[in-house]
Amino acid sequence: MKSKLNIHFATKAIHVGQEPEQITGAVTVPLFQTSTYAQIEIGKHTGFEYARTQNPTRFAWEENIAALENGIAAYAFGSGLAAEDAVMKLLSAGDHVVCAEDMYGGTYRLFEKIYRRFGLTFSYVDMTNSGEVQKAMQSNTKMVYSESPTNPMMRLTDLTAVADIAHNHHALFVVDNTFATPYFQQPITLGADIVLHSATKYLGGHSDLISGIVITNNEDISAQLKFIQNATGAVPGAFDCWLLLRSVKTLALRMQQHERNALSIANSIENHKNVLAIHYPGLSSHSQHELAKRQMSGFGGIISIELGSYQNAQQFVKNLEIFTLAESLGGVESLICHPVSMTHGSIPKEQREKLGITDGLVRLSCGIEDTEDLINDVLNALDY
Ligand SMILES: *Cc1c(COP(=O)(O)O)cnc(C)c1O
Repeated sequence: MKSKLNIHFATKAIHVGQEPEQITGAVTVPLFQTSTYAQIEIGKHTGFEYARTQNPTRFAWEENIAALENGIAAYAFGSGLAAEDAVMKLLSAGDHVVCAEDMYGGTYRLFEKIYRRFGLTFSYVDMTNSGEVQKAMQSNTKMVYSESPTNPMMRLTDLTAVADIAHNHHALFVVDNTFATPYFQQPITLGADIVLHSATKYLGGHSDLISGIVITNNEDISAQLKFIQNATGAVPGAFDCWLLLRSVKTLALRMQQHERNALSIANSIENHKNVLAIHYPGLSSHSQHELAKRQMSGFGGIISIELGSYQNAQQFVKNLEIFTLAESLGGVESLICHPVSMTHGSIPKEQREKLGITDGLVRLSCGIEDTEDLINDVLNALDY
C-alpha cells in the first residue's frame, strides 16, 4: 500500500496488499481458485502463468505479512514445517547449524531424521545463554536457528546478541516467531535475517487451517526462497491464503486478549499450592522477564505449568471444562496440551527431562474467551 502516512501495525494488517480489487472494487481480496491463466498469445501473458508460481490471493497474503514483520518479502508454504524445510534448503551438504535445544519437536525431527541424512550437522545449545551459541560456532556454521519464546518451556533467546554472533561468523540468523507473532516481537528489527511461522497458530488464529510463512529482509535470500518455493512446490492453496488474510486483520485485537487472559491466569495461579512451577515471560518471577520486556512488546498467550506428576496432569485436564485437550495453539479457543505424550513425543526422554518437559508439565494456550471464565476454569481444575 502506498501511503504518505506512517501507518502502524493494526492498519497495515487490514490494508497492506489488500487494496480494493480493480474490476469491481471488491474490498476483500478475491479468492483466485485457479491453477492456470489464459495467455494472450504465444510469448505474451498477463504476468500470471501457473498457480504454483503466481497466485494473486497468495501474493496479497505474502505482501501483508512481509509488512507486519518489517521484511521486504514473504513466501507462503503448506505448513510451518514446509516453511522450515524451505529455509533449510538454503543450506548445502557439509554446512553446520547451531540451534536451540528446546525447539518445537517437529523441527528437531526434521533436522535429525531428514537433514542429517543430507549431510547437514546440528549443535543443540541452551540459547538462553548467548555464550553457548558463541562456543558452538564452527568454521562451517552457516545458520543459527532460534525459537523465542520456546515451545513449551517459554525460554527466550537474546535476539540482538545472537544476531551479532551469527553475523560475525557470516551465518544466517533464523527466528521461529510463531509464539510471539509480529504483534509482540519483530525479530528482523532485532537483527534476524529470516523469520518464520507456523501460520497454523496465531496468524491463522481459528484452528481451521495448516500453513507456514517465511519472511526476510535480504534481497539475495528472498530470491533464493522464491526459487525454492517454486522449484520444490510446497505452496499453500489459495483458500488458506484467503483465510489468513481474513485472520490477520484481527491479529492485533486477538493478541491483546490472548495476552490479557494469559497474564490474568498466570497471576491467579502463580502461588497456587498445586502449581509447582509456572513458565510465562510476563511474570516478574520468570528468569528472563527483563529480556522479555526489552525485546517483546507483550508476552503472548502461552503458559506452561508443572503439576508434579502424570496423575496430577491427567486429573487437571479431566477437570477442565473450557480448555480442550488438543495439540496446536494460538486459536480463539483455549486449548491444553500435555507435551510429553503429544507434541514432544519425538524428543528423546533424557533430552526432554533435561529441558524440564516432564510427565507433569502441561501447556495452556489461552484463547480469547471471557477472562473471568478462563480463570475460574483453571482454578476449579487445580482443585484436586
Ligand atoms: C506448530 C509449530 C511448528 C510447525 O508448524 P505446522 O504448521 O504444524 O507444520 C513450528 N514451530 C512452532 C513453534 C510451532 O508451534
